[in-house]
Order: sequence, then C-alpha cells, then structure tokens
Amino acid sequence: MIDTHCHLYLPEFADDYQDVINRAVNEGITKFYLPSIDSQSVDSMLHLEAQFPGRCFSMMGLHPCSVKENYQEELQVVQNWLLKRNFAAVGEIGLDFYWDRTFEKQQYEAFHQQIEWALHHDLPIVIHSRDSTQECIDVVQQHQKGALKGIFHCFGGDYESAARITSLGFYLGIGGILTYKNSGLAAVLQKIPLEHLVLETDAPYLTPVPFRGKRNESSYLKYVAAKLASVKEVSIEEVAAITTSNAEKIFGS
Ligand SMILES: [Zn+2]
Repeated sequence: MIDTHCHLYLPEFADDYQDVINRAVNEGITKFYLPSIDSQSVDSMLHLEAQFPGRCFSMMGLHPCSVKENYQEELQVVQNWLLKRNFAAVGEIGLDFYWDRTFEKQQYEAFHQQIEWALHHDLPIVIHSRDSTQECIDVVQQHQKGALKGIFHCFGGDYESAARITSLGFYLGIGGILTYKNSGLAAVLQKIPLEHLVLETDAPYLTPVPFRGKRNESSYLKYVAAKLASVKEVSIEEVAAITTSNAEKIFGS
C-alpha cells in the first residue's frame, strides 16, 4: 500500500520517526508521500526524504492555511524549489475557509498560481479543501484542459462532489474520516468505483478508529483499507492493489 499523504516530518514524530516508518513498512506500506506546508517545514521534509530514498517522496507547495501577509514571499520559495529539483507533486494547495476567510482572495491567487506551475512542470496536484469543496472543484474545472491530474486529499464530501471530482479525472484521497460513524462517507463510496480512490493517513491528523483522538501514523492505513474493503465488499488485497496502482498512475512511479 501507499500512504499518499502523511506529514511524518512534523515535530510530532521527531522522537520516533524511524520506528513509525519501520512499523508501516512491516504492515506493507512501501511508499510515503510528504505534502509540503510552507517554508518553515521544508527543511525537515527534505531531510526526512533524504534519509529514506525510494520510500519518502516530497511534494512542494504552499498550504492555504499558510497564505498570510507574506504569501508572495512564500510562493517565491515554492517556485524556486520547483525550478531547482524534481518533486512528486505540487501540494498541498487549495482553499480553507473553515479557520479564516481573511485571506480568501490571496488563497485563490496562490491556488491558481500553483496549478499553473504544476501544469508547467507536468506535476500532479494535491488539494486541501475545507469548507471549500465546491470552490476547489470550480478552480480545477477552469484549469482542466486534459493535462491536469491529482488528488482531493482527505475527501469527506457528498456524492455529487465525488462525482464531479472523478469526472474531472481527479482521485479522492480516503483516510480516517471513512472510519468515523457520522461522516456518511461509507454510503458515498459505495457508489464510487475503487479506480477513483487512493489511501492516505494525513498523519499525525485524522486518526482512524480504533485510535481516534491519538496521534495518527502510517501503519494505521490498514484500518482505512479494511474499512474500505468492507464498504466495497471486496478483499483488503484488492483494495491495496487497486489503490496502489492508482497512486502509481498519479505520481508516475
Ligand atoms: Zn495534509
């Protein structure tokens, strides 16, 4: 299996990231995709990637919650890195209207700009949307002329949103939310083929049942896979095979 979205470079893992990765590898997780947040966390992300070549892969991007007064400088950092070396994706990028709408206009500007860079570098995008799913879909639709690909990370929306996203050729990132009783996501995914889904933990956040409330880690991906298997009435092996192949299509490895 592939954990398509995990922040294993954050301080939450500073003391035991080796153990965290070893536990996940022992559970059959072969690759870990690391979404960038902002310039504060780039060094630790690249440092972790360098320690696990062929396992950990960095993305590059400015998270919508980090779009503040200095967003132009932050975008400059992203652009410089994209010109300097290869990354797995441009991410995570998008819109977040849950915490704060102060920088709504700037969030849109940063989102559009980074999509253009992704297209220029022929990279997939990884989208963070919170209280903004329709708005993010609208932005993707504007840019989708056939070449854009990527993931709506941490998907928790309704069937109509899922159908719009998949019809744009995008994938749904499925994580711990699927295991939460009140999320309604299981009913939505019953109607969405596995061919449109990838697995993710978003560690250290969004911990699946039975560890909800504790720190999340990549080895818990098995709880998401097991839940998805029961929702789709297939084996865990089938979930693993199809979602892994989807992730390889997106990230090209
Ligand atoms: Zn994330």
